[in-house]
Amino acid sequence: MKAAFLKSAQPRRLRRQREGETAMHGTGPERKPSERALYEIHEDWERFTLTPYLEQKIRLIGEMLPAGVRTILDVGCGNGLITNALTGRAWTVGLDWSRAALAFVKAPRVCASSSALPIRPGSFDVLLSSELLEHLDEESFRSTVAELALTAPGHLLFSVPNAENIHVNELRCPACGRIFNASHHQRSLTAASLAALFPGYRLAATAVGGQPVRAYPLPLLRLRQRLGRRWFQVPPRRIVMCPQCGNRDFPRTPHNPLSFLFDGLNRLISRRHPYWLFVLLERRMGTHTD
Ligand SMILES: [Zn+2]
Repeated sequence: MKAAFLKSAQPRRLRRQREGETAMHGTGPERKPSERALYEIHEDWERFTLTPYLEQKIRLIGEMLPAGVRTILDVGCGNGLITNALTGRAWTVGLDWSRAALAFVKAPRVCASSSALPIRPGSFDVLLSSELLEHLDEESFRSTVAELALTAPGHLLFSVPNAENIHVNELRCPACGRIFNASHHQRSLTAASLAALFPGYRLAATAVGGQPVRAYPLPLLRLRQRLGRRWFQVPPRRIVMCPQCGNRDFPRTPHNPLSFLFDGLNRLISRRHPYWLFVLLERRMGTHTD
């Protein structure tokens, strides 16, 4: 198949990618990291290795793939843990805009943004997107949804955090005071909200999996954050970068009586549910665009 799936050269888009290679812009203490810089930390991608939960995710994705699938495009493939595992199942191509992440991908790979896919519509049986949509800013999110709908002939398969409360993993930057989600998640998604984004498709299957996480009602969480001064604690070896000032130093803060109280109350009233949601969308008959 070689690279027949690629559109012919698109100078405008290629130029935009080259401009994006500049990881930081601005000078001085208030310089702001570009969105790209948040995803170009080699060591951060290196720490993503196979865990029992990820192996479960790969198995679930394999089970949800429609029968007879021959080609898969993994949009936002990251370091290719899933892409590499799927190559035994179908001819799989990984696409990501992070060069640091693509260095780990063993399958054929394309460095591009999901919001300007350089892919010929209809080239792949399935477009897979795992843990991508929740990361995108509003403009990239809208254009990515449009590009996916334009490019997928039959099926879209998504994995996203399952109706995530993105405030649970918020922390406050000790350098500049910015409050942000540690994984830079911008939105919460459900099967219904995903299906509503793609009116040309019908909801074909859903599944949940992954590590159980406890819900945390927002009013109680705000009390823990503001009164208990307890935010998300960065685990050892994990790298987090402030989107406002680029700071990577987030010292852990000990529990205190108030944070203990709010976490204890939450354990009494909140349930745990699997972290990941898997959604398979199938194009409705008669809605092909090509
Ligand atoms: Zn900061």
